[in-house]
Amino acid sequence: MRTKMVAGNWKMNKTLQEGVALATELKETVKNPSCAVVIGTPFIHLATVAGLLKDSPIEVAAENCADKASGAYTGEVSAAMVASTGATYCILGHSERRAYYHETYDILREKVLLALENNLKPIFCIGEVREEREAGRQNEVVKAQLEGSVFNLTPEQWSCITLAYEPVWAIGTGLTATPAQAQEMHAYIRSLIAQKYGNEAADNTTILYGGSCNAKNAAELFANPDVDGGLIGGASLKAPDFCTIIAAR
Ligand code: PEP
Repeated sequence: MRTKMVAGNWKMNKTLQEGVALATELKETVKNPSCAVVIGTPFIHLATVAGLLKDSPIEVAAENCADKASGAYTGEVSAAMVASTGATYCILGHSERRAYYHETYDILREKVLLALENNLKPIFCIGEVREEREAGRQNEVVKAQLEGSVFNLTPEQWSCITLAYEPVWAIGTGLTATPAQAQEMHAYIRSLIAQKYGNEAADNTTILYGGSCNAKNAAELFANPDVDGGLIGGASLKAPDFCTIIAAR
């Protein structure tokens, strides 16, 4: 049985003090969740929040890591550094990083490998932009994203990957994919995994939906057989909303 999961992505929100307050509130509320719970925080929060959540079922993710192992890369944070904080996951390939920081398939392939080498579990994001959806190209886009950055992995490495299907037109826009659109794409992604790694690996791969998933629509999205949970941006910044989404899973 694959892992069901609700993961938050705080993006560039919350000072350290605000982040600690939110993580503390979550720790007090999320005691015995029926799914894996992860929060993705800015780098500077990781060590403090991971320490705070040590005896909690909530795990911590970085929102990025460098595509180099170490050295003269001023301002970068390596996968080894992320792992040394106690974080166990790393969100990679988010559309905002692809769009604003020009992260290519090749760069992301390196990041995924470095995350895995450092025992971080990647939450790898894929998804089409609005124009691609309108042109009916969403399947070829996600296929190319998988082939470009993660279908090089060995089966053993693949078993550490969580995918997040995030249609870019739905991120932070209030436009959500319909449950049927989400299910159709998730089933397609699972069929690609089956072709590449076999049916068992496909069955075992957790595929999250992300894009304006919130306390109101989460249950309907999660009711789909191939939607294993959510990657939550805006609604992960308020503990009551995030907890409602966790309870919906
Ligand atoms: C995200 O950034 O991963 C995301 C899904 O954002 P939002 O929930 O705000 O659309």
